[in-house]
Amino acid sequence: MNLPVVIAALPVGAVVGSFAATAGLRWARGEQALTGRSHCDACNAPLGLGRTVPILSYALQGGSCLDCRAPIHPGHLFGEVLGATVAMISVMALPIGQALLAMGLGLVLIAAGAADAASRRLPDMTSLAVAILGGVLALQRGPVALLAGLAAAAITGALLLAIRWVFAARTGDPKLGQGDVKLAMALALWAGAATPWVFVIAGPLGLVQTRLVKSADRSIAFGPALALGGWAVGLALQAGLFGDLIP
Ligand SMILES: [Zn+2]
Repeated sequence: MNLPVVIAALPVGAVVGSFAATAGLRWARGEQALTGRSHCDACNAPLGLGRTVPILSYALQGGSCLDCRAPIHPGHLFGEVLGATVAMISVMALPIGQALLAMGLGLVLIAAGAADAASRRLPDMTSLAVAILGGVLALQRGPVALLAGLAAAAITGALLLAIRWVFAARTGDPKLGQGDVKLAMALALWAGAATPWVFVIAGPLGLVQTRLVKSADRSIAFGPALALGGWAVGLALQAGLFGDLIP
């Protein structure tokens, strides 16, 4: 662990986390996600550099736009805090090459989670990126780990599609979105034989969410819980915390 790198990871992670959350929220609104200047979501006032300092700008402005006083979507703040956290944990736990891949994967998950939280839809593009980065990370652990990931992705997909089918047959509502199935498969590619742990974390988080969120149709965005569980398990596995039991 290299202390200057860990310290540098904090602001860098916050900036790219901010970018990732913004991209996800823009995608949810049907806007061009990756390009375009920083602007207020409500009044479109352009934001100078001074108003895009992660976390600090949000805090100093009291969580609202200085021009129109509209509240800033909390997803921006979440993205900044999570981005900094993901970057710091990655460089602390992994050698730099793998740390960059794990950090990239975490940032893609932040974008996916923000999009899902805002629109209850998960972009295919982010799940594809998670699958590619997860596959490359699994291969770093060896060809057996990649094979385990491919098997886990296939089993996860089959099980979740079966669950969707049962729910749909019984209640007319599949509960789980197709986007959730794709993201879970992509994460399983990274987590391999440790994939059940992803659901051990994501399942209860989803249940807590159903209690807290009082939406009209009682549905929740499962993407953020899945993303959190998947990244935590993938990183622990990559860092060797599962020992020799799981490749
Ligand atoms: Zn504004």
